[in-house]
Amino acid sequence: MSVVTRFAPSPTGFLHIGGARTALFSYLYAKRFGGKFLLRIEDTDRERSTQEAVDAIFEGMAWLGLTSDFGEIYQTKRFDRYAEVIAQMLAAGTAYHCYASREELDAMRAEQQARKEKPRYDGRWRPEAGKVLPTPPEGVKPVVRFKNPQEGEVVLNDLIKGQIVFSSDELDDLIIARGDGVPTYNFCVVVDDMDMGITHVIRGDDHVNNTPRQINMIKALGATPPQYAHVSMILGSDGAKLSKRHGALGVMEYRAMGFTPDAILDYLVRLGWSHGDQELFTREEMIAKFDFDHVSASPARFDMEKAYWVSHQYLKSADVAAIAPEFDWHLRRQGVDPANGPALSEVIVQQRERCRTLLEMAEKSKFFYADIESYNEKDAAKHLSAKAVPILAGLIEGLGAVGDWQAESIHAAVHAVAEKLALKLGDVAQPIRVAISGAAVSPPIDQTLQLLGRERTLARLKAAADYAAAH
Ligand code: GLU
Repeated sequence: MSVVTRFAPSPTGFLHIGGARTALFSYLYAKRFGGKFLLRIEDTDRERSTQEAVDAIFEGMAWLGLTSDFGEIYQTKRFDRYAEVIAQMLAAGTAYHCYASREELDAMRAEQQARKEKPRYDGRWRPEAGKVLPTPPEGVKPVVRFKNPQEGEVVLNDLIKGQIVFSSDELDDLIIARGDGVPTYNFCVVVDDMDMGITHVIRGDDHVNNTPRQINMIKALGATPPQYAHVSMILGSDGAKLSKRHGALGVMEYRAMGFTPDAILDYLVRLGWSHGDQELFTREEMIAKFDFDHVSASPARFDMEKAYWVSHQYLKSADVAAIAPEFDWHLRRQGVDPANGPALSEVIVQQRERCRTLLEMAEKSKFFYADIESYNEKDAAKHLSAKAVPILAGLIEGLGAVGDWQAESIHAAVHAVAEKLALKLGDVAQPIRVAISGAAVSPPIDQTLQLLGRERTLARLKAAADYAAAH
């Protein structure tokens, strides 16, 4: 059997981090078995679905690299198929028309509640052998209900939660098409999962209660139900329901925060799944190792600090070429032109030890690509005071004489200036840092100056000397 999984979001908001994890689990499971993964947009609720949300889902999935093996699939493009299946079910007697009005149903519910019973459809239009049905009222467009088997139980062998048994008499006859013919959510899912040959349904555990109904419908259609894996929810770090404050943000917000797609995937895969103590996985490793035996049945906790840690590990070890395009995106977003300075890959190598995210890296690297707008006030007060004037003058002279603009000769020139002025290296290095980057932190001076280039270095040292003389 070849595995086919799907991610089936309703486009009512951005692709949030919890949805991305569900998508990732589905994707990994399919790939692990050389199977296929599809993305299905569940947009039948036309009031709540928006094009913006559809776009956000595609954008987020593309950024994460979770590509569908099928084209774009929308439920709203499949209404003919749903109508066909409904007609089949009516003909086969596995579905029936129900003419009960809203008022009737409300009254039924009120009576049941008064009797302290669970509200449910009482089957008044359900055909049974020997039962005489009421006469259909004039001018009423009936809904279609699924004739749910009333005996026995539905056994769900969930790949994460284990066995869950539902008694059939708890399940009333679900509406599968409204009076206007529009099919309902649970029904569309069933037809799609069947038609698309889905072998494993991996989704949030808020859907557990839909599952027995879906299983019964698939069976009524003569198909074999898929296997199910219901993923527990994600809680905030404090154990409360995950909210924005905890990090329940859209995937693209994580991009803006400076995470790489691989870091996000790595962080997400460990939210609920484990493989021994291993924390960091390449995409290939995730695919090779992912399984449901090690997905926890209890809720995972979102931990922003951990996400930053993972991000930093990735930046430190990732293939530079792979993160350069993302770094480019951040620099542009900060209004600098990445062409106007050193190769991105070289800057990444210098910066990655000290930056947890690409946003931080871009902020700390802007000075390579654009003039600095101002000095950090405290740093300038400390390192660009009148005391710095002779230091900067010495540097301009010493560095101006460097023939071969390479880290080694730069290093030697800076040392020589310190020696000549009988200063410690730090006393010379700090004014350089503030002069060239605006603040007193930067990667090693010699490397930084090499990357910055002779002209820019000398121009900034001169500007700093003028500033120091005036302060
Ligand atoms: N469309 C549903 C949702 O966004 C998912 C349904 C499913 O995976 O079966 O919650």
